[in-house]
Amino acid sequence: MSQHHVALIIPYRDRLKHLRDFVAYMHPFLQLQKLDYRIFIIEQTNRRPFNRAKLFNVGFKEAEKISDFHCYIFHDVDLIPTNVNNIYGCTQFPRHMSANIDIFEYKLPYADILGGAVAILKEQFVEVNGFSNSFFGWGGEDDDFFNRVTKNGSKICRFGPSVSKYIMLSHKKEKPSTDGLNSLKYTVVQLEMLPLYTRVLVDI
Ligand code: UDP
Ligand code: MN
Repeated sequence: MSQHHVALIIPYRDRLKHLRDFVAYMHPFLQLQKLDYRIFIIEQTNRRPFNRAKLFNVGFKEAEKISDFHCYIFHDVDLIPTNVNNIYGCTQFPRHMSANIDIFEYKLPYADILGGAVAILKEQFVEVNGFSNSFFGWGGEDDDFFNRVTKNGSKICRFGPSVSKYIMLSHKKEKPSTDGLNSLKYTVVQLEMLPLYTRVLVDI
């Protein structure tokens, strides 16, 4: 029996070409590594801004129902690992797998990065309460996950640069989303101009 029982969780919407290339490449790759694995494609159906992190949480919950995976890999659909020694299993510490991507000239963009592809033991993922559900649109959720995983002094790890190599399938760059005035939703329940102050009662 394989020592790795792994769920690959892929957040997805509207990238059919990438999905085709990804599964065609990954099955032979993962089979060479003799893993016991399953690939989950978690697809967002609505037209709200894409929520990568929430899809990861959904993937975890649904995978857990299907089998007792001990290792979870949260993985973009457009990342292709090029070194077969990049084992799709979990290590003692949560592992940032995609440290050296072609579009970043195979360099780590910044030290605290924990996006792209991450391998984490089930109990560690549960311990940090998974990802935040509240990041709609591009960006932020991966840095939030870094903070969750490393708070209380916990470590992450990376394999060396020759092993952690990926190519990213080409796509146009999404605009970073910033949460704020442009995404504010609220209902004023009551507005009263009182003598000493104006009272705004609000459902947020
Ligand atoms: N994604 C998707 N459809 C989208 C946006 C994102 O399927 O419209 C998924 C896909 O798995 C993708 C990942 O979310 O690889 C991260 O998005 P993106 O590749 O745009 O981020 P970047 O490479 O710019 O960090
Ligand atoms: Mn990408």
